[in-house]
Amino acid sequence: MTDQLKDLEDEVAARTAALNTQAELDALYTSVLGRKGGRLSQIMAGVGKLPKEERAEFGQRANESKLRIESSFASAALRLRDAGLRSELAKTYDVTFPATAPKRGSIHILRRTLNDVVSFFRSRGFAVVLGPEVESEYYNFEAMNIPADHPSREAMDTFYLPSGALLRTHTSPMQVRAMLQHPPPIAILVPGKVYRRDALDARHAFMFHQFEGLQVGRGVTFAHLKGFVGDLCRHLYGPERRTRFRPSYFQFTEPSAEVDVSCGVCAGSGCRSCGGAGWLEMGGSGMVHPHVLRSAGYDPELYTGWAFGLGIERIALVRHNIDDIRLLTENQPAFVEQFQ
Ligand SMILES: [Zn+2]
Repeated sequence: MTDQLKDLEDEVAARTAALNTQAELDALYTSVLGRKGGRLSQIMAGVGKLPKEERAEFGQRANESKLRIESSFASAALRLRDAGLRSELAKTYDVTFPATAPKRGSIHILRRTLNDVVSFFRSRGFAVVLGPEVESEYYNFEAMNIPADHPSREAMDTFYLPSGALLRTHTSPMQVRAMLQHPPPIAILVPGKVYRRDALDARHAFMFHQFEGLQVGRGVTFAHLKGFVGDLCRHLYGPERRTRFRPSYFQFTEPSAEVDVSCGVCAGSGCRSCGGAGWLEMGGSGMVHPHVLRSAGYDPELYTGWAFGLGIERIALVRHNIDDIRLLTENQPAFVEQFQ
């Protein structure tokens, strides 16, 4: 019976080596190792005829045979699979064909807009400074000439922290902080996040990005402000865009003006995207209020300066004709990939 096992092992090794298809392999497997009527089972059924003392040894020998037979089948299966893959590849794929390029990430539209703003200011010699997002009431309000009982504090719905500090509602506090650290003249750009307790909708967000431009020195006038803002808008939106200043009121500038840029869709004649006005609101600007200069230790009799603040989101929306601010932070790949 041990010879029968040896013969079966040899036969299986030879036949599996010559197999060409999976079907042949399956058929041979069943005929040799099938539980009912398989040839190994048949040999093992004879164990009962052996003398008792030989049975254990035979059982062990049969198990070894089974392992060797299974290993022959496994190598045949592997060989067939490799051959199958190779012939698949040969007929289906041209391995010399150029591969699909992997997907690459890109800079987000908000960051790109901010980078544009920063490079414009840098090219004109402005220093970029960042301020704290958690700010004190003093720098956010008092130093900006907004006293405690002033109604505009309510207009700027503020997030207060348990400590009494707050999340800055504008980047302006950094004007005073920077002026306190540097004697005049000064020319800085302050980009960063600001926070307001606004409900989220297509035009409002509780967190958005602003930047603040500030230039203070001897003989700085409103004309410098107009020239600078006009250049910036042409840099951001294109050489054909015009800017205009409308008289306005802010606590921290005097005189103050709102900045508008001509609509890129209708070029100023009025259309749906500008609400018929021909102009789009960009932000606030003005000559730095003497009280603010004094808070910073600058003598308003000697020094004058301008400041203006715009929203990064606002610029991105206007540049790309996007009508919902929420799209900028929802990070939907289909939206973001449009601006690669
Ligand atoms: Zn228009």
